[in-house]
Amino acid sequence: MSLGTDATARADALAAMRRLDALGLNRGSTGNLSLRASAGGFWITPTGMPAEELGADDFVHLADDGQVLAGDWAPSSEWPFHRAVYAARPDLAAVVHMHSPHATALACLRRPLPAFHYMVAVAGGVDVPCTPYHLFGTEALSQAVAAAFAQRQACLMANHGLVAGGSTLAQAMKVAVEVEALCGIYLQALAVGEPALLDAAQMAEVIERFRHYGRARRTAG
Ligand SMILES: [Zn+2]
Repeated sequence: MSLGTDATARADALAAMRRLDALGLNRGSTGNLSLRASAGGFWITPTGMPAEELGADDFVHLADDGQVLAGDWAPSSEWPFHRAVYAARPDLAAVVHMHSPHATALACLRRPLPAFHYMVAVAGGVDVPCTPYHLFGTEALSQAVAAAFAQRQACLMANHGLVAGGSTLAQAMKVAVEVEALCGIYLQALAVGEPALLDAAQMAEVIERFRHYGRARRTAG
């Protein structure tokens, strides 16, 4: 089936998958990534294909209901929660999923990432929740992820891994990489004792600051 559209976006998605591999956040064919298609629905990585073998033309175009519109391969078996995120959050345009070591370790403890560090607000709230355990690829897991994404841009899935979303692919990658790093720091802190948590007012301050925070050049003169 012809792919046609979104060639640049698919090339960016391929580069993102390779970056996750290079960062050691993705192994083999465990992680997956999707982005909204300009013609509706979304592009997702194919099932069972490691990043080093993946090409920009190997992405699969799925309709909003999960039907395959284009692509030579079967989509990632985890496509249902990608679909669920896009349905729940019209503002999000990319979803990154990985079984990265630290987020997955915390997910296996079935513990959320609490407000132990102000950067936790990168996911849009006071914590990164952990969904209950459900089998991968199931509607039950999709519903749990969609519920978490009603208020956040990332969640852990119990005994599984991390999902992060963004209004752009770059933002989804930023959230995914940051949450993974925070999970690592949290686990290190937990190994020594119970980390002090920021309270709701302190996190509200951070979230407000993040709303206005961005790259800014110094004005000349
Ligand atoms: Zn997975």
